[in-house]
Amino acid sequence: MSSVKSHEAEGQAQEVESRQIAVMQKRLRELTFLHETSRTLAGTLDLDGVLHSLLAQVQVYFEVEATSVALLDEEAGELVFRVAVGEAAEEVTGLRMSSELGIAGWVARSGEPLLVPKVCADGRFYAGVDESTGFETRVILAVPIKAQDRTIGVIEAINPVDGVFDKDAQRLLLSVADLAAVAIQNAKLYERARQAERRYENLFNEGSNPVVVLYLDGKILDVNRRTVEIVGRPRDQMIGETLSDLLGISNEACHEAIRQVLGGRSPVSEVKLQSGEDVRTLETHMVKIDYGGREAIQWLGYDVSERVALENMRAELTRMIVHDLRNPLGSIMGSLQLIHTAFVEHDETLPITKLLGVAMRSGQKLYLLIDSLLDLGRLEAGETELSKVSVNVDALVQEAAEQIQPLALSRRQELATHVAPGVNEVCADRDLILRVLTNLLDNAVKFTHRNGHIILGVERMKDEVLFTVTDDGIGIPPEYRQRIFERFARLGNADGVKGTGLGLAFCKLAVEAHGGRIWVESEVDESSQFKFTLPLGDR
Ligand code: ADP
Repeated sequence: MSSVKSHEAEGQAQEVESRQIAVMQKRLRELTFLHETSRTLAGTLDLDGVLHSLLAQVQVYFEVEATSVALLDEEAGELVFRVAVGEAAEEVTGLRMSSELGIAGWVARSGEPLLVPKVCADGRFYAGVDESTGFETRVILAVPIKAQDRTIGVIEAINPVDGVFDKDAQRLLLSVADLAAVAIQNAKLYERARQAERRYENLFNEGSNPVVVLYLDGKILDVNRRTVEIVGRPRDQMIGETLSDLLGISNEACHEAIRQVLGGRSPVSEVKLQSGEDVRTLETHMVKIDYGGREAIQWLGYDVSERVALENMRAELTRMIVHDLRNPLGSIMGSLQLIHTAFVEHDETLPITKLLGVAMRSGQKLYLLIDSLLDLGRLEAGETELSKVSVNVDALVQEAAEQIQPLALSRRQELATHVAPGVNEVCADRDLILRVLTNLLDNAVKFTHRNGHIILGVERMKDEVLFTVTDDGIGIPPEYRQRIFERFARLGNADGVKGTGLGLAFCKLAVEAHGGRIWVESEVDESSQFKFTLPLGDR
């Protein structure tokens, strides 16, 4: 009896043990399946590839006739069968179905899994797909694919070969859907990044402007087709060179531009680039970009050669016209002088005396304007040959002051000069700098009240000589302190004061042609200080 009992107990224990082993084996198979699935999903970033591998594994593991993944197209309100595996795979792939229809539609809308053991008995089943493919759906297990709590698609496993699904199938397919969701999101992100990359590649290669991608140290990482065409050298030769090699600009200028880009600015400049026989003018723009996951700098050159050539032609034409005005004006002035000598000099009381005076003064003004415009044009075009000599600063300052003194006296102003000890000579074009000084002094007199004070001072500053014209006149508001150096810039304060608006533009060009700088400091209604420097070293 006892041996029968112990036999029974033994049998029961063995049964429990083998059931436990079976459960463990099943768990192990499930884990292996999920592990394999996640490895497959992580192994590729191509969306169709991802889904295809996923479904192939689901079909084998669940032993079903067909599987599919439909993704939700929210805008269209449709489910799109992106990938299918099984008998009617080809016909199903690409099918679109309203997300209001069928088991898949129900799962997509509710976000809940659904096991339908007998589809023909379920009102939610939509037979349209079977009708168009010829496939017969009997049993469906459908689960939602969710990303960030939103349903993005549905996985369906159809017709298990045993006729029914295992009770754990739903839980397992939901785990697969979770893995699939991450993989789908990654694949979509990757696809989007690839599209952006392809768009950039197209712009880069097919664009009509030269584009150069640089490492942060200024070395060339890539150049586009247009750059190769313009420079006329093979791409491989340019890669590894520096931007300064390519453009023939200084390393310092290049690094400064890169520093600006890294500091968040987008520097714009103009460079000349030798292209075969031609020289092209490029307006260059630099920005920081992400180039295949690494920080890089994109240099882009807009070819503005045509615009520059047109501007040069226009400037040349203007100069010719201005120049040609000088001759007829010369004849008019000569004739006026003759009339003056013939009639007025003998009889100052003649009625035409006044008129003649007006005509001659106006003619003189026109002369001044024409000469200023011609000077400016020549300086701008870099055509003015500076005849630099060693200039005695003291003598230069005295001469400028003497020229303006009568004007200052007529307005009862005090004009003083002060040359600091140690300033002896400067290397400059004497005539040009004398005209700069007289222009500044002339302005100081014009824009200072009667009884005002004007000082022309000179001092040494490291390797430069600093000239300062100070007045206690009406001053210049901060917003105009740059603009007054442009051609024809005259402020409201110049109303009723004679002038052309060209004096300061001339001063700026003349000083810069010497390698110096010019600027103004001012207190409105109190004073103005026009300052310019000339380098000492250049002899
Ligand atoms: P112009 O003197 O012939 O008008 P400029 O180019 O010499 O032309 O000067 C441009 C403008 O700058 C002047 O019209 C005036 O508005 C302003 N300006 C120049 N110098 C002074 C100054 N010393 N004080 C105040 N305003 C000045």
